[in-house]
Amino acid sequence: MCFLFRERKTTVKYQKPKGTADILPAAAEQWDTVEAKSREVFRRYRYGEIRVPLFESYDLYARSSGDTSDIVTKEMYDFDDKGGRHMALRPEGTAGVVRAYVENKLYGPEYPKPYRVYYMGPMFRYERPQSGRQREFHQIGVEAFGSESPLLDAETIQLGVDLLHNVGVHGLRIAINTLGDPETRTAYHHALVDYFKPHLSELSADSQVRLEKNPLRILDSKDPQDKPLVADAPSILDYLTPAAAAHFQAVKDALDQLHIAYTVDHTMVRGLDYYNHTIFEIMTSSPAFGNKELTVLAGGRYDGLVEQFGGPAVPGVGFGLGVERLMLLVQENEPAPTPAPLNVYIAALSEKAGIQALVLAHAIREAGYTVDMDFLNRKAKGQFKTANRENAQLVITLGDDELANQQASIKQMATGKQIQVPFTTVTGDFQRLYADLVEEGNN
Ligand code: ATP
Ligand code: MG
Repeated sequence: MCFLFRERKTTVKYQKPKGTADILPAAAEQWDTVEAKSREVFRRYRYGEIRVPLFESYDLYARSSGDTSDIVTKEMYDFDDKGGRHMALRPEGTAGVVRAYVENKLYGPEYPKPYRVYYMGPMFRYERPQSGRQREFHQIGVEAFGSESPLLDAETIQLGVDLLHNVGVHGLRIAINTLGDPETRTAYHHALVDYFKPHLSELSADSQVRLEKNPLRILDSKDPQDKPLVADAPSILDYLTPAAAAHFQAVKDALDQLHIAYTVDHTMVRGLDYYNHTIFEIMTSSPAFGNKELTVLAGGRYDGLVEQFGGPAVPGVGFGLGVERLMLLVQENEPAPTPAPLNVYIAALSEKAGIQALVLAHAIREAGYTVDMDFLNRKAKGQFKTANRENAQLVITLGDDELANQQASIKQMATGKQIQVPFTTVTGDFQRLYADLVEEGNN
């Protein structure tokens, strides 16, 4: 039977959608480690996890991201559901979290301020797949609501740095900028229009549209045609209101005190429309990215978004981190983890012994240990080979004699020591048995 199974030619009928990836168990274990290390940092900063839907109404994302953003104009996975509602798979995390914040009235007096949450999960963007850019990708992100303090901006940046350090990623470059307050934005808007208007025909088609709707977005253009003009564009730093300038200065002062080195990049605008005041990106270059510098973490302040979603005027600040890019960096720094040893392999030498093996395996698992046994009718030699390959610490052999005596032969693989114990000892107190055989053996 198993030979038929092995020799039959297979043809792949289905392939994963373009821009998606299967994360197989060995890699998933590394993801798990990164997630656990991230959770540990979030715990120290008093962030709680929030889990929100993977899809929401299209309008939610469209309105918050801004209708000239790449996400809305090109990248949204949207569809009409069977009830005719226009829905979209989430392209980013903030909109859903803000919606949940408002809908659950998390600004109420019974909740802490700032109210801090983190999330982990898949995001969907219809992009051209390339290294570090997929259509389904994952983000770990945070949002903190309810404080205007520039100290919270600095803490959020520090959190990002700590998180990256805690998962073993170093050599970071931190870029910050400010988008100021609404007054700053209006003044800067006019300055950009005055600057770009005479060069309208030199701009890419996309940017000509942006000049009408949202000239700030031109600064974020990836079109090479726009780059020279963008390089000489006026700087937002010259249009900050005194209050906006003071906020930015306070963030910089706090970063200095925290010994976080940064560069101010006045052309940085971020991909989404909802940001104001501080925005930041953490970048790193690595062979994993073809030695190009790539952004792994990006975020900023979004005072006004909660209000736009129908809530009170509650400010917010957060970031999103691209997990696939992070994993490339982690995998480059650390060799793949060696799989944990198997505690017990049970070799069963007959059909009847197989049933007994299943019973013992269950008892040992209940005691908290890992167990495997044969399910392919392998001969004794094949079973021992499997036990070796799985790096088993103990091998229990069940043959006719063992069944007759209701005893298990247990071999400690490291020393070759072999003993006989009643099945009742295996099922009754495996912890003790394991301690005697394996832990003693290690000393
Ligand atoms: P870019 O300018 O590179 O398109 P973005 O502004 O669209 O970035 P954000 O929306 O800020 O990116 O997302 C935060 C982080 O999520 C990025 O810094 C990156 O690490 C990751 N990310 C964004 N889009 C993708 C994608 N398509 N595939 C993998 N990771 C992504
Ligand atoms: Mg993008």
